[in-house]
Amino acid sequence: MVHPDFFSDIESILGVAAVLRSRSDLLSYTENTSGFFREIAGILLPKTTADVQSCVRVARRFKTPLYPISAGKNWGMGSRLPIRDGSVILDLKHLNRIRKIDGNMGYAVIEAGVTQTQLAQQLRSQNCSYFLDVTGSSGHSSIIGNAMERGISYNGLRAEQLMHLEIVDGRGELIRTGFQAQSEGTLSELYRYGVGPSLDQLFFESNFGIVTAATVHLLPKTEKQIQFSLSLRDASALPDVFDALRTLRERRFLFCTARAGNKDRLYPLIAPLLQRELEKMGAKRTRPELLEILNRHFKGTWFVGGAIAGTRAFTAVAQKEVRKTLGKFGTPRFMSGDKAQWIGHLTRLVRMKEIPALISALGSLQNLARGIPTEDTLPSVFWPVGLSPSKDPAAEIDRSAAGLLFSAPLAPLNGASVAMLIQVIESVCVKYALSPAITLNTATDRLIEAVISLHFNKQDSVVTKKAQMCLKDLNAELARQGFFQYRLTVEDMPEAINPNNPGWTLIRELKTLFDPDDIIASGRYCPPLTGLDSAKSPT
Ligand SMILES: Cc1cc2nc3c(=O)[nH]c(=O)nc-3n(C[C@H](O)[C@H](O)[C@H](O)COP(=O)(O)OP(=O)(O)OC[C@H]3O[C@@H](n4cnc5c(N)ncnc54)[C@H](O)[C@@H]3O)c2cc1C
Repeated sequence: MVHPDFFSDIESILGVAAVLRSRSDLLSYTENTSGFFREIAGILLPKTTADVQSCVRVARRFKTPLYPISAGKNWGMGSRLPIRDGSVILDLKHLNRIRKIDGNMGYAVIEAGVTQTQLAQQLRSQNCSYFLDVTGSSGHSSIIGNAMERGISYNGLRAEQLMHLEIVDGRGELIRTGFQAQSEGTLSELYRYGVGPSLDQLFFESNFGIVTAATVHLLPKTEKQIQFSLSLRDASALPDVFDALRTLRERRFLFCTARAGNKDRLYPLIAPLLQRELEKMGAKRTRPELLEILNRHFKGTWFVGGAIAGTRAFTAVAQKEVRKTLGKFGTPRFMSGDKAQWIGHLTRLVRMKEIPALISALGSLQNLARGIPTEDTLPSVFWPVGLSPSKDPAAEIDRSAAGLLFSAPLAPLNGASVAMLIQVIESVCVKYALSPAITLNTATDRLIEAVISLHFNKQDSVVTKKAQMCLKDLNAELARQGFFQYRLTVEDMPEAINPNNPGWTLIRELKTLFDPDDIIASGRYCPPLTGLDSAKSPT
């Protein structure tokens, strides 16, 4: 129970409109894709870093637990839910200023609520020669919130792109990482470490503070980009394909995240987009007809894809290498923007509809590697349960029947690990009669990030429970084989964090320095300090 004076004190500082407590508001914040339950006590909507400091100071007086979110699109892992019941959500969506874009050095200084689409559009409107490396999640998801979960974007790791964090800690103090003496200096925007121990990594996947702003490094646009794809008829070749992808990365022909997806991933991703494009051409198809089209165009069980980017001369050489290396496993196809336009035009002339529809359907997905965010990945969450979202899937997803749970293990980037990973996933999921959608991303030169999506109808409580049990079982089995999760669902957090383990004990000690009253996101990637007595009168 939150002390009633907590909310009135906050209202007197932020204004009445910045405090939400109605039943419908609480419900809209607790609906989530994963079928988890939490009770929350209210929602606060600060607009500035100073507002956030005020919220923390008042929360500290009343010992009220706060749970910060940036855009709250943590789908598959808990959406906007806190770890513990009774928390007050601190929604940072109104901290949405792009404070600076340096188009010369290639970085932007952004606040927590800035979304991928917002920054990408701003860069485009300034004709910037740099782009934001985006994730496959909605354009309405945030950059800072994603980094707080160490999210993975199309060309790299988010946590490596962010630096010079501005943080409000659990005492309400402002901390800036980087060069200590030079809070707004350019060098802190370019070099994360400053001098002496570097603090910034302490704030990713942590609850030591609320990150209100940060510098994000951008990527230079390249002269040319070519997409490649390969259908694998024989799934047993998948491990060798990953050995080959590693070689291509190490020899510097590939810089982006090349990935492989199974049929249960690819079809739900493309089918709804194909349906949309065919409808636009007046050629609506039924679900079985769409599947039949996909079966004709994507013959195989696994599908590999990625992008080659660089100068024209480099991409020509790299394309040859990719063709030679992956050619052992099938026939790689290559598509650049110009080629797609050209084929689309030709096939339209001969009144073919499928090919131009497929090219358009794939277009937005292929643009992700070039930093153009899209909503087009979201219908893939609705498709497996027979639903089609309307125009705004990001707004609908949490309240719809489309259930989603993610398992996100890491594995060494080699064939043997791929074989073991697939074996574990399949052997667990078959016990629950679930068909997992699997993507294997080459996250670095040495690591695979696997994303295993479990789809289910959230309105069916038995099916939901089954999917949740499957996830638990799967994560435990993966961990037994050494494939640990790199991020956790809000439900897994308490179990995965063992307060008796020396590493977690030390993390808890650090927490007492930054947030002695355990106000911020209690239990998030850190053992709780003690049970908060949230109904206490101010001290
Ligand atoms: C189809 C689909 C594709 C996806 N693709 C990707 C992908 O390619 N890569 C990827 O990483 N994820 C992906 N996701 C998962 C998820 O949607 C993204 O990670 C998304 O960016 C998270 O939402 P958000 O940015 O709004 O972060 P939030 O939900 O706002 O934040 C996530 C968590 O971080 C903490 N937090 C947030 N803000 C702060 C702050 N300012 N200070 C301190 N702590 C904070 C909170 O604990 C919060 O729960 C995908 C999901 C779907 C459904």
